[in-house]
Amino acid sequence: MTTPEPASSSIRRLGEFDLIAALRDRTPRSPRVAIGIGDDCAALAWPDPAEMLITTDLLMEGRHFLLGEATPRRVGYKCLAVNLSDIAAMAGEPVAAVVATALPRARAERIAAGLHDGMLEAAEEFGVDLVGGDTNAWDGPLVVGVTLIGKAGPRGPVRRSGARPGDAIFVTGPLGGSLLGRHLSPRPRIREAIAIHERCGITAMIDISDGLASDLGHILTESGGLGAVLDAAAIPIHPDAEIRSRTTGRLPLDHALTDGEDFELCFTLGSPAAERLVAGRRLDGSIPFDLPIDHRSRFEPARSLHCIGRIVREPGLILEGFEGGRAVRWDRRGFDHLLTSSDDRDPTPS
Ligand code: ADP
Ligand code: MG
Repeated sequence: MTTPEPASSSIRRLGEFDLIAALRDRTPRSPRVAIGIGDDCAALAWPDPAEMLITTDLLMEGRHFLLGEATPRRVGYKCLAVNLSDIAAMAGEPVAAVVATALPRARAERIAAGLHDGMLEAAEEFGVDLVGGDTNAWDGPLVVGVTLIGKAGPRGPVRRSGARPGDAIFVTGPLGGSLLGRHLSPRPRIREAIAIHERCGITAMIDISDGLASDLGHILTESGGLGAVLDAAAIPIHPDAEIRSRTTGRLPLDHALTDGEDFELCFTLGSPAAERLVAGRRLDGSIPFDLPIDHRSRFEPARSLHCIGRIVREPGLILEGFEGGRAVRWDRRGFDHLLTSSDDRDPTPS
């Protein structure tokens, strides 16, 4: 327990205003920022009539990252990137961010500079203006909250709730094992989402932050209590999931379904858009999807999409072709309730 102190006295000592002035100096500005860092509020020229998207995420040392393992720069990058991933999940375009920090007092300035470097890196890469924030120091761990504003595309925001029975389910990349390091460098699929939505008309979408099974579950619930049948062989498994499985003893597929922080997108398409995409499938099952190279980005765009299954009326999650043939029901405990054939499937959720 630490004793609370008056907010105003806490950081004046370490030069809050000098720190903010330094952050302000090193923050680029763009024409859409009418008022940036330095006043009581920021002001943006809004690209009317697009709807405004707003999202926020809080990252806490000890829970979401360890400062021994992640540099402040990585944390800054990740903190903006996880918000970018939420904008991607609505097929939106990011515009501006504000960041609130609670800095560990002893290393406040060094950490603030590192965080800012990482945020600027992500901001530049994805065309975001950093327009304000709040800076505090205390005797506790590092806490960083980023709020990101974006704008919806011309077709409006893509919701979780638009999936329909018969829609095909896709993901933008291989899943599982992000804990081995990828979780610190999420690749928000902003450009991919915009391009896919423009070409195909996405019916529902979510970013995979809690694991495919759980996040797809949100689409199913929000879409009115639907179910999904997944083709076990079609779920793209990241090499990291294979590596993780050697230490955990769990199947790589299990990691692909449940590991969080992949930050790929899971989305649904109606036919004929889905059929058009699937027709171009390569021998390995991946679907080529080309985006122009973005020279600002240090990440490869998603080069392939994967059609992993379909939406059905009966609630629940069924995996077909599990370990070479069986169909199994997936629930929170894993591959439970083995189903012996497709005929005796119990349509009620377990
Ligand atoms: P107020 O007390 O009126 O909220 P502050 O003194 O907290 O203002 O902040 C002064 C200015 O600096 C504001 O424009 C605020 O948005 C900006 N700011 C504060 N901390 C940060 C930060 N970590 N990154 C970017 N801008 C910041
Ligand atoms: Mg004020």
